[in-house]
Amino acid sequence: MPSAILNPYEKVLYKSESLEGNSMYNKENVFYKILKSEIPAKIIYENDVALAFYDIRPLKKIHALIITKNLYSNFDDFAASASPQEVKDFFMTVSKVAEMLGISQTGYRLLSNNGPNSGQEVEHFHMHLLGGEKL
Ligand code: AMP
Repeated sequence: MPSAILNPYEKVLYKSESLEGNSMYNKENVFYKILKSEIPAKIIYENDVALAFYDIRPLKKIHALIITKNLYSNFDDFAASASPQEVKDFFMTVSKVAEMLGISQTGYRLLSNNGPNSGQEVEHFHMHLLGGEKL
């Protein structure tokens, strides 16, 4: 059984054993606080693997963020540490959120900043989902 802690939305947040010792992850980040319900967010959708909410400083008409519920610092960490099932479920969730926001047909852009040169501001793995207009 994976260890579990309650997430802010009354669902169980699973934390894999392998992540227990992940010293790369720094809990002093705003998305961790959103997961813990310590600060609010405009939630779009959530399931066991991901939480989607609107970016506080939208760059396009639609700008959503999809974050993992497990604790990964960035894309590299996610790619290295997540199970194949979690990777699949996460990207299926991204696709579902695009559908929910009505931009699947019109098109959208996915982006993930990884590391210092990318300008990654928040050290919790997330995808930006941009659309709703010509990009
Ligand atoms: P990145 O530069 O890829 O780490 O992107 C972080 C994103 O998080 C930026 O687009 C910010 O506007 C967004 N952001 C920061 N704080 C919040 C917050 N409290 N709620 C929603 N989005 C946020």
